[in-house]
Amino acid sequence: MLKFYNTLTKEKEEFKPLDPTQVKIYNCGPTVYDYAHIGNLRSYVFADLLRRYLKYKDFGIKQIMNITDVGHMVGDEDASKTGEDKMEKAAKKEGKTVWDIANFYTKAFLEDSKKMNIEEPEARPKATEEINEMMDLVQKLITNGFAYISNGSVYFDITKFKHYGELSGNTIENLKTGAGGRVNNNPDKKNQLDFALWVNNPEHVMKWKSPWSEGYPGWHLECSAMANKYLGETIDIHTGGEDNIFPHHESEIAQSEGANGKPFVKYWMHTRHLLVNNEKMSKSKGNFYTLRDIEGKGFSPKALRYLFLSAHYRTPLNFTEENLKAAENTINNMINFLDRLEDVEDVDKYNETIDEKINETEKKFEENLDDDLNMPEALAAIFDLVSFVNKAIDDKEYSTENLTKTHETLMKFDKVLGVLEHDKIEITEELKELLGQRESARNDKDFKLADEIRDQLKDKGFVIEDSLSGPRLKKSLKF
Ligand code: AMP
Ligand code: ZN
Repeated sequence: MLKFYNTLTKEKEEFKPLDPTQVKIYNCGPTVYDYAHIGNLRSYVFADLLRRYLKYKDFGIKQIMNITDVGHMVGDEDASKTGEDKMEKAAKKEGKTVWDIANFYTKAFLEDSKKMNIEEPEARPKATEEINEMMDLVQKLITNGFAYISNGSVYFDITKFKHYGELSGNTIENLKTGAGGRVNNNPDKKNQLDFALWVNNPEHVMKWKSPWSEGYPGWHLECSAMANKYLGETIDIHTGGEDNIFPHHESEIAQSEGANGKPFVKYWMHTRHLLVNNEKMSKSKGNFYTLRDIEGKGFSPKALRYLFLSAHYRTPLNFTEENLKAAENTINNMINFLDRLEDVEDVDKYNETIDEKINETEKKFEENLDDDLNMPEALAAIFDLVSFVNKAIDDKEYSTENLTKTHETLMKFDKVLGVLEHDKIEITEELKELLGQRESARNDKDFKLADEIRDQLKDKGFVIEDSLSGPRLKKSLKF
């Protein structure tokens, strides 16, 4: 039974989509004022894992990930403060227009996604292209009595929505005292925690004419409007990083349910943060890496993808170069194993226990991922299969049929993992000969020559591994 942890109910619940042929998923996407940092990428790799596993389980998918290119203000994450627009701030800093900034970092984000082997969602709507939908939503909220106009701006009156606080476990009373001095004293608001749906600001560079004023939409509004337009009034799954829970997602619920009078999301799923020195990786703390930084250090984006997969999405993950290196080694080993399956000679000894192990592994893989996407356990089952088959090969207890089936099974798992596809590097005759010469040198106790040949092989990107069936070449891969 497929179960997901739901932030709203704080329980693992059986996943029952509204329509299994089209599971409706909304992911909060990037604010394109800068490169994404790898913490952001953790939340997108999680969204991709969810998508891929649902596909593995034969669900149809409609996944939407927005691009925030307007309305996300510095301070939005804290409470209902209003600071400077992140886009405009970046434009000033870089001496470019906001539109150039948006285009440049959207493109960079799409490149990062591709490198991380993140599948394309069905649509990536941009906030600036959905302004009419947002205005319609604001109008509905005014008509339904949840929003009020004040000095050309429109605010959501949180006291009118009785479920406000349910997702994050906040009560309005606690929020008032908790937010205390952090909240700006805005005379236009009835309650200081009311959040802006529309901001009256003709000075803003990105601005639109509306029935209330010339200005721009609030950040929370765009996700409600786009979810509604692309997926409908009630959707199955909404994801984001844990910092999105409040106020962003709490406010999305208030807007969508206030406008439509229907439940907005069945399952809320949140990724825990990527940490550095046990602190949240974030732009404002300056403790972040981008994917470019990681590549600059010689790591492959797929190693980062694997690192993210190897920790459960609901546990914080502390980023270090050592654990990234370990992730890269693990994928290299798996890839070498896949190539070994194709390269070893057939000894024609069909081994039934390999078939049994494959069945057991498939069962464990699925059982663990069914349990709220427990990838660490699913991976443990895969490693177990790899050691089992490696040993069978060393013992010469296998047939080609066994190995082909093992290969197929791993590549089936890789539809979810997305890290194992690679260009196979052929072990050429020249390489085989070098390996043979090194063996002879060693047998003749000419260790100097043996070491020289080892270094030659290393330069060509190969390392020698001594296995029970004799020395063999392993590729140190860039994939
Ligand atoms: P932003 O571009 O700031 O709107 O953030 C994009 C996504 O990244 C959101 O879903 C955030 O919750 C998520 N996020 C931000 N920082 C981290 C982090 N350190 N670890 C994991 N996810 C994060
Ligand atoms: Zn959002």
